[in-house]
Amino acid sequence: MNEVLKLCPFCGEKPMIISLPDNHLHSFAVGCQNEKCNARVSGATMEDAIDVWNERVTDEATN
Ligand SMILES: [Zn+2]
Repeated sequence: MNEVLKLCPFCGEKPMIISLPDNHLHSFAVGCQNEKCNARVSGATMEDAIDVWNERVTDEATN
């Protein structure tokens, strides 16, 4: 299965998947690679985090 991450809605950079081993509720995060951009979402699983990220991108794009 190949999850596709949409580009950051704020700066257009590619996001990256971050593992959060110390956080039991949100073990994975998707964050923007741009150091000046603080866009980041998290989820219980990698797929969750990706889904939240992609939904957020869609939400921002339609506003
Ligand atoms: Zn960004």
